[in-house]
Amino acid sequence: MKKIKLSVIFSLILLFMVTTGNAADNTQITYNVSFPEAQAHYADIEMKITGLKQDELELKMPVWTPGSYLVREFARNIEGLSASANGKSLSAKKIRKNIWQLHIAGIGTVVIKYRVYAFEISVRTSFIDASHAFLSSPDMFLYPGNMLHSASTIHIKPYKAWDKVSTSLEKVNGDVFTRYSPNYDILFDSPIEIGNQEIFNFDAYGVHYEVCMQGGGNYDKERLKKDLAKVVAEEVAIYGENPNKHYTFIIHNALKGGGGLEHLSSTTLGASRDAYTTERGYQNFLSLAAHEHFHLWNVKRLRPIALGPFDYDNENYTTNLWIAEGFTAYYQDIIVRRTQLYSPENYLGMLAEDINLLENSEGAKVQTLAESSYDAWIKAYRPNENSGNSTISYYTKGSIVALLLDLEIINDSKGQYSLDDVMRYMYNEYYKTKQRGYTDAEFKAGLEKFAGKNLDDFYAKYINGLTPVDYAYYLGLAGYKLTNELADNNDPALGITTIPNIPRLIVATVTRGSAAWKDGINVNDEIIAIDGEPALEAGKLLSGKKVGDKIKVTIARDGILMDIPVTLLKSTKVKYKVDELPNPTAQQLVVRKKWLTLK
Ligand SMILES: [Zn+2]
Repeated sequence: MKKIKLSVIFSLILLFMVTTGNAADNTQITYNVSFPEAQAHYADIEMKITGLKQDELELKMPVWTPGSYLVREFARNIEGLSASANGKSLSAKKIRKNIWQLHIAGIGTVVIKYRVYAFEISVRTSFIDASHAFLSSPDMFLYPGNMLHSASTIHIKPYKAWDKVSTSLEKVNGDVFTRYSPNYDILFDSPIEIGNQEIFNFDAYGVHYEVCMQGGGNYDKERLKKDLAKVVAEEVAIYGENPNKHYTFIIHNALKGGGGLEHLSSTTLGASRDAYTTERGYQNFLSLAAHEHFHLWNVKRLRPIALGPFDYDNENYTTNLWIAEGFTAYYQDIIVRRTQLYSPENYLGMLAEDINLLENSEGAKVQTLAESSYDAWIKAYRPNENSGNSTISYYTKGSIVALLLDLEIINDSKGQYSLDDVMRYMYNEYYKTKQRGYTDAEFKAGLEKFAGKNLDDFYAKYINGLTPVDYAYYLGLAGYKLTNELADNNDPALGITTIPNIPRLIVATVTRGSAAWKDGINVNDEIIAIDGEPALEAGKLLSGKKVGDKIKVTIARDGILMDIPVTLLKSTKVKYKVDELPNPTAQQLVVRKKWLTLK
């Protein structure tokens, strides 16, 4: 007893020392970021640290960016690092791939200069050219080791005529080009867009929103302001509050865009410049915006315990990305349905597409949802030609699992509760009250609280197991069923895809269990002819053939022509649609009304 008490007191004293140590810490960090060669994709950074009292200083760069689960080795883009103190050069020794060490005994102020090459267009990597700079942040700013708690000030010197900055970092003295970060977790979660972007604003529930449009596009500002505000309102309604005072949408419009990355008080989205005017394009954009904005709660604040505080040097493993990403993927469409911008039929069509993705996946028979999450670092983010056969996306299956749980909870509570209540409860319990992430068992307990039943069996089947989803039961709860539109299809299939948009037919993937798989057609084979007839179009390779036919596929493999005998098998592809069950019961209608927000 005594021992325990003493150790508790000792740790309290230690905590006090560390805390007051930080508070009394006079260290100040400033970054001067300039772009003298923006056209060649470089940022020049000068980092100044004053008030140092230690003997050694380690400068580090994160190896990954939170939200994107891949070690990207950002330090590989740094060049010309030099350090100095009082105008004299200081040795900066590289001691690991992402760490430089400086001996600074007796030195209070250090200046570090380096250049960063940034030419990877994505929402999670920095990109600089003559037209703009997108600073993703973890791949741009070195930080002093053991000083992640430190505040910093960032001065931006724009290139030529750049006159705008969009970021969720606060301005200093009202200067758009000077920004303040309270600590590195916030800096690394705050991308910065600099250039001549179009900016417009709207307010929703006391939060000021800035929309930054880079790259042009055929968007309608007024329509976007109205619709984004509706999406925001529906998401705030789930959690009961918006923890931000302001929020920034950074949108990169390109010829073909997609994807997004969530942050605490902002997001970066990739959009297709000319797709805002098509129904499908606009819907994709709204769902993407709803997805990333939903993350400001789910994963940025309500989070798996492994995802914060982050280890910026290594992989951060969690089996819960199906909650962080899959649930968010489920909400991205159901939220927009709630705004009435999607009709119920519209929504059910999107749901059918998600179901088809899962049900046409061979990998879903091999990898569990928990495994898919844990191995994101080496599988989801490092796909190869066999990924479709060996992995299942935690987005795809996670969103279907969210659907099943939502329907189960609504049904069990006779329309009183839904998955929303679980999300709000978990947010209050873990983010606000306990101020930490949840464990696997804690999230399960939260689900069970509202499902009114033990979910051991559900987890064994769908999270940790490979049991096919029982759509008849779950969709049946809301009076719906699946119909396979290809049920009577007897067409044969080879089970390959070919590389798109090239004149030759080169095999890109071979589906597990298909005719091509069984008889040995390989990825990278060029299909030359079928039964002696030249192969011209991927979609017409098997014209006139039947299931069971034995055909001769002529291929070129590594420059050598060969004939491969193949016995054609029936296509296993499914194409489901969601249909109403006849004569739904009162209970089914209660579930349907709540689930689809019907009037
Ligand atoms: Zn996401």
